[in-house]
Amino acid sequence: MVITDLKTTCSRCKGSGYNPGFSVMGVNQINYHGQCPGCSGRGFTLTELGQDVVNLLKPYIRELLEEERKTADARRRITIAAAAREEAGEESQEQDGD
Ligand SMILES: [Zn+2]
Repeated sequence: MVITDLKTTCSRCKGSGYNPGFSVMGVNQINYHGQCPGCSGRGFTLTELGQDVVNLLKPYIRELLEEERKTADARRRITIAAAAREEAGEESQEQDGD
């Protein structure tokens, strides 16, 4: 399997992901956010096989994100606790100095 089995270059933006404007019923419109509407700014679209792979991996990606979120939360709690301890330690040192 090669990458071109999973995705194809977007034909609307030729792979740039950018589209400065488009024509609606013959009237040119400015595309304010600049993203190609054909590929949401990615520059490629998924093939049927590519979409199948994404659907296959979605549950695992969701698990990984949830795991990462929990790890980040735990890390944040540790940092807050350490900062609180440090602050309390500094206060007690100040009190010791008096
Ligand atoms: Zn595109």
